[in-house]
Amino acid sequence: MLQIASLVKNDWVAPKGGNISQLCDAAIGNVIAEIGHDGLPFDDMLTHARTIGGNALRQMGFHDRAKMIKAVALMLSEHKEMLYQLSYHTGATKADSMIDIDGGIATLFVFSSKGRKEMPDGQIYVDGNIEELSRDGSFKGLHVATPLLGAAVHINAFNFPVWGMLEKLAPTWLAGVPAIVKPASQGAYLTEAVVRLIMDSGLVPQGALQMIAGSAGNILDYLTPQDVVSFTGSFETAQKLKSHPNILANSIRFVAEQDSLNATLLGEDIADNNDELAVFTREITKELTTKAGQKCTAIRRILVPQQSVDAVIVAMRQKLDGIIVGDPRDENTRMGAIISLAQCADIIVKAKQISTEAELVYGTLPTSAPEKQAFIHPMLFHCKNPDSAQWVHQVEAFGPVATIMAYRDLDHAMALLNKGEGSLVASVVTQSGEIARAVTYQSAPWHGRLYFNNTQSVKASTGHGSPLPHMVHGGPGRAGGGEEMGGIRGVLHYMQRTAIQGHPNLLTAITGRYVAGADTHASGNHPFTRNYHQLEIGESITTPQRSISINDIETFAHFTGDLFYAHMDEEAAQANPFFPSRVAHGYLLLSFAAGLFVEPNVGPVLANTGLDELRFFKPVVAGDAIYVILTVKRKTRRTDEYGEIRWHVEIKNQLHEMVAQYELLTMNAYDDNKGDAT
Ligand code: NAP
Repeated sequence: MLQIASLVKNDWVAPKGGNISQLCDAAIGNVIAEIGHDGLPFDDMLTHARTIGGNALRQMGFHDRAKMIKAVALMLSEHKEMLYQLSYHTGATKADSMIDIDGGIATLFVFSSKGRKEMPDGQIYVDGNIEELSRDGSFKGLHVATPLLGAAVHINAFNFPVWGMLEKLAPTWLAGVPAIVKPASQGAYLTEAVVRLIMDSGLVPQGALQMIAGSAGNILDYLTPQDVVSFTGSFETAQKLKSHPNILANSIRFVAEQDSLNATLLGEDIADNNDELAVFTREITKELTTKAGQKCTAIRRILVPQQSVDAVIVAMRQKLDGIIVGDPRDENTRMGAIISLAQCADIIVKAKQISTEAELVYGTLPTSAPEKQAFIHPMLFHCKNPDSAQWVHQVEAFGPVATIMAYRDLDHAMALLNKGEGSLVASVVTQSGEIARAVTYQSAPWHGRLYFNNTQSVKASTGHGSPLPHMVHGGPGRAGGGEEMGGIRGVLHYMQRTAIQGHPNLLTAITGRYVAGADTHASGNHPFTRNYHQLEIGESITTPQRSISINDIETFAHFTGDLFYAHMDEEAAQANPFFPSRVAHGYLLLSFAAGLFVEPNVGPVLANTGLDELRFFKPVVAGDAIYVILTVKRKTRRTDEYGEIRWHVEIKNQLHEMVAQYELLTMNAYDDNKGDAT
């Protein structure tokens, strides 16, 4: 018998007291675990998280935490087999478990990579661009994000005991915030196994992770405005928790991911195309049967043109006939069990509600819940009056249940799509750009994600029901109004965004990146001879001037083939409202700029990797001269061997007027042993 323990501060606390529940293997029905407690010291746990865990995480920078997350992902990858074995108890097949376990680990890898690529090698995140608040440039504004000083309480649903935890932990840790995880009781043995692996590995500081096995008790009473609740579960529980007096009184952040009546739509344009129909029905079958339909993103409503209803029903019957439901340990099984008998009962109640408005066209509606083995077979309904129906748009039978309904035209289809009143994802199989655009404009406000697919993209497509760490997961209305993941957006849910105003010198000091207008200092030798770690923010060189002749312009024009009239035809150039006469090519100026600032000898600059935010301000004509000011703006360590230097580049003319401005990216060797020729 597994004893599912809570991690309270640094100690594992086994189940004890009168509030103990027993958990059964979903497919076999035997008791496998105990969970519960008579109360945990929630206040102490939160204090431990905020002080010990929070302080340790905040001392690290984004890149340190990203590396920590990657190390956790690598470590967990080595224990997948043990986790798959435990996962069978939840009723999940190996393929289901891979979505949960491998999907969770992959999410850690993506956040780790994004943290290192898209966040600074420091502690303060800059969100967006500089705002020019003064004419003379001595007072500017920007937005920063800093880690909340509290703890994140993650309350998760039963269906993904591993992914559900890791998809929240990755952005939370990357932000620098500790977490207390409360998995759903069903399946918590799997979450506990992962928490033990993480804490035993020593990869994560103490206090960064604690776990509640069983009831979350009165933990919400102890939260402060610096804490966050991130909840995934049913509409009913979300309502109860988000209206808790302390959450309301202290404006405590509450991210909710809840029920969703996700829909899929077959575009009229491809309704007669068998290949596209196959894309459509394959995706529905996958969504109905993966995790036995216990996915928040699973397709619950199937919208098809009137003339396609019969064809879709026939195709779905064929596909569902091939689904073998059974013990997930059996390799022939295509669909495993429902997590518990109670959950089976809930699905049956909800399917009965749907059956009052829709005819069952595949499967059998059980009269009662199973007594020992939690199996429910796929059920497909057909609703003939989707406009007047209510249950089919409102009741989420959290299992292998979906309803087909016909639409008259695109407007009707979109109205039905939106009748779910807020969903996590809606998918559309179409080849028509017009349909895709119309659905996006008229339905996107009701859906957290729109997923377009067809035979052109099907091979590479990631799946209607797969939330990706790169993409936003969440939805309006019934879906909870929350948002998770979406790359670095998801990290910001655990940080405070603050507007910062002041002199560029102070903004530079705060952000660790050069803000134009701040003091610069000349380096003793050419900055291209200095390696990554020697270069300092604000270090700058000003080059000598170079004059531009008409011969330069013509040579460049003939050499490159850019004979655009503004460079070659005096009369036409003068007629152009932007130019006084023939002007130098912008790219000529960039090339001359490089010629002015580059240090030619072998040195620590390994490569020029790009150029951002290029703007030309003032034309340069023959007889003008230009010079360049090159300043180290930002440094981002990429590997142990090299890092990216972002240079702020200004090209000015002989009157010191700004001609062009851009950001140059170079990859520089990190230290003296690795490429510094000086
Ligand atoms: P649930 O019954 O609402 O439970 C969700 C979580 O809340 C569990 O950890 C549960 O713990 C906990 N909980 C229940 N009452 C609580 C209370 N008074 N105080 C603190 N915590 C409490 O949902 P579920 O049955 O686990 O999950 C199925 C539902 O989740 C479905 O409706 C599905 O659509 C939704 N879901 C949504 C998403 C999404 O991303 N939007 C993802 C997955 C699932 P116990 O288990 O210990 O009761």
